[in-house]
Formats: sequence, C-alpha cells, structure tokens
Amino acid sequence: MSTGMEVCPRCRGTEVEMQYQGKEDGRVIWSILHCRRCSFSWRDSEPPESIVPEKRDPFFNVNPDDINRYPIVLAPTP
Ligand SMILES: [Zn+2]
Repeated sequence: MSTGMEVCPRCRGTEVEMQYQGKEDGRVIWSILHCRRCSFSWRDSEPPESIVPEKRDPFFNVNPDDINRYPIVLAPTP
C-alpha cells in the first residue's frame, strides 16, 4: 500500500512516481509505481519478496552509483 514515502525496492532511491492506479467502485485498490533512478516499475500489491527491500534477494538489487558494475550484455542498435 502507498504510504506517501515511497522508496524503490530495487535501488532504494526516493525519486518514485505514481504511474497508474487501479480502481474499483472509485476506490484505489493498487498502484503502479516507477523509480526514475533505476527505471524499476512495480505494483504495490506484489508479494513482499518482490517489493519490500529487506525481503528482496539482494542479488536482484542495483546500485546506480556503481554503474560500471553492470556491463552492456547486448549493445543497443546504433
Ligand atoms: Zn530504483
């Protein structure tokens, strides 16, 4: 659920924006959030293993300040 103080589950950045809200009978039942820092998007109704930083597998987290860690696997088309 949205707390108003969203933190990206993947990079813990705080540049998080609301992209879409699913509503039923005028009531918000889920939200799609997007991190402008690492481009991760998630729905706030996903399981904690996906969206709670402390419960995520650290292997899948990223640190955008350490960009050289992430090699280009497939170069973008020129
Ligand atoms: Zn992020």
